Amino acid sequence: VFQLSVPLNFLGTVYRELRQSLLDMETLFNLQKVNVSIQEKPDAKPLQLTKGGEIRFENVTFGYYEDRPILRDLSVTIPAGKKVAVVGPSGCGKSTLLRLLFRSYDVQSGRIFIDDQDVRDVKLDSLRRAIGVVPQDTPLFNDTVEHNIHYGNMNASVEEVHEAARQAHIHDKIMSWPHGYETKVGERGLMISGGEKQRLAVSRLILKDPPLLFFDEATSALDTHTEQALMANINEILRGKSRTSVFVAHRLRTIYDADLIIVLREGSVVETGTHRELMERGGLYKELWTAQEMSIEEEEEEVDGKE
Ligand code: ATP
Repeated sequence: VFQLSVPLNFLGTVYRELRQSLLDMETLFNLQKVNVSIQEKPDAKPLQLTKGGEIRFENVTFGYYEDRPILRDLSVTIPAGKKVAVVGPSGCGKSTLLRLLFRSYDVQSGRIFIDDQDVRDVKLDSLRRAIGVVPQDTPLFNDTVEHNIHYGNMNASVEEVHEAARQAHIHDKIMSWPHGYETKVGERGLMISGGEKQRLAVSRLILKDPPLLFFDEATSALDTHTEQALMANINEILRGKSRTSVFVAHRLRTIYDADLIIVLREGSVVETGTHRELMERGGLYKELWTAQEMSIEEEEEEVDGKE
């Protein structure tokens, strides 16, 4: 029995690792069209989070095409353990910042550091293990709900999977599906809403519990109320934990309490500060905020009018 169980255990490990790397690949696919030029240096070292996850962009220039820069000489520091928002007009390069950090692409010039280590000098798996992403559109495998959450950490127990789903406020919903946690989701499974997908992504992230967290807010997938409920939930999960969390946000109401707000325009940082400081400054952030508040009021008036 002993002789047989050893190779079986081994196979189990291989299977789990394969699944984990498939997940990482899928995340990658979601963020980019896989870029073959990204390679690990032969002398790459594992990333060490000696400062708790400080991210520093130093004079970063990047474009998807050589002659069309998206980020231009961008420098900014995201302090360790803080809640930071990146905002700005559509197409200004917010999601691109995240892709560079994750090394889906490399900078054309300048450098990106995590705790003083250039992301190009560290082992790719250690980099990607340290970062958790809730992308705009969560990739789901054609597999059970349980497995889809489990990918966050293949070593977690089933109880931990359920607990993560509870924390992401999706457990009760899952229990209402035809086969509970055994329900198949993904393209060939049960159709679930954008909000439910995001909550599954959050459950995954809770299981993974990485030191650096990124939320790429969906532009249109979720309505305002669903988005606000999700944000409140994420704040509750992050409370008391020291995690560098970066929110790429379109709706400024969801991030006005951030410790730091970074405002981009055409690939450069134009302002940084708290909501209050930026409102007092009266620049681009105030302009964006005022425009959004006006359109929210109009929406609300329309709704009131219909009632
Ligand atoms: P949004 O607020 O609309 O989500 P964003 O600020 O996050 O936008 P990015 O997604 O970073 O903007 O895109 C910045 C620019 O780069 C856009 O003009 C976009 O069209 C372009 N872009 C993004 N991804 C690619 C890609 N894979 N190949 C070529 N161009 C791209």
